[in-house]
Amino acid sequence: MKCALVTGGSRGIGRAICVKLASMGYHVLVNYQSNDAEANKTLDLIRSCGGDGELLKFDVSDAEAVSNVLTSFVTSHPESCIEILVNNAGIRRDNLLFWMTHDEWHKVLDISVDGFFYVTQSLLKNMLANKFGRIINIVSLSGLKGMPGQVNYSASKGAIISATKALAQEVGRKNVTVNAVAPGYVETDMTADLDEKSLKNMIPLRRFCQPEEVASLVGFLASKEASYITGEVISINGGLYT
Ligand code: NAP
Repeated sequence: MKCALVTGGSRGIGRAICVKLASMGYHVLVNYQSNDAEANKTLDLIRSCGGDGELLKFDVSDAEAVSNVLTSFVTSHPESCIEILVNNAGIRRDNLLFWMTHDEWHKVLDISVDGFFYVTQSLLKNMLANKFGRIINIVSLSGLKGMPGQVNYSASKGAIISATKALAQEVGRKNVTVNAVAPGYVETDMTADLDEKSLKNMIPLRRFCQPEEVASLVGFLASKEASYITGEVISINGGLYT
């Protein structure tokens, strides 16, 4: 059984990625933190498209929870092989640095950076042993350009961009590729509080991205067609910043 793990798969971009990878034949492991109802909706969508998967509920920033859930999945499914990992879970806690609380700083960094470390390290051993793996990190335009009011978020995405490039060089000889996808504004719960009407005037394509458009790019990076692409950061932002 070939599996794909998508962190933060219950909603938004992660949900669209789960559906895409299921359509490519993967048994999809849908990780999420708390929203059981939305996670079940993702699983229903996967099944309604003829695929299958299961829910894996854990907080990616909790090292012990990550290790417990993933170790128990791997030992109880010896026939399975998690060959795709999409590190997608993330949050925003915007504030000017001057006013930023320690909690706003740490929550964003913990989920993005520690989450990437704990989940990726847990799965890497098997990918290296199997001599195949695809790791795709969802970063952001904010991590490339830097966004005022998002010093925490920009720092967290910038860290993952560098980690992507470094890890790609560590594991390439074992046929494991590591890439990052950097969206601009995507229509999800995360951007629901933004003024889409005025922001879209700054975007050459004059609209926000749909989660399915990000999922198509992730699907490509997960496919055999992308076998020689590694250590890259691919933007999908409607021309907002190049
Ligand atoms: P979203 O709609 O807010 O969904 C966030 C997802 O992450 C949910 O599934 C949530 O689970 C999960 N999550 C949050 N904290 C978690 C934790 N500690 N452990 C496990 N799962 C956790 O966000 P989105 O817009 O789809 O964003 C997905 C990714 O794309 C993020 O990394 C974000 O930074 C990045 N991104 C988004 C945009 C955008 O415009 N939307 C642009 C660039 C990059 P629950 O449902 O259980 O809460």
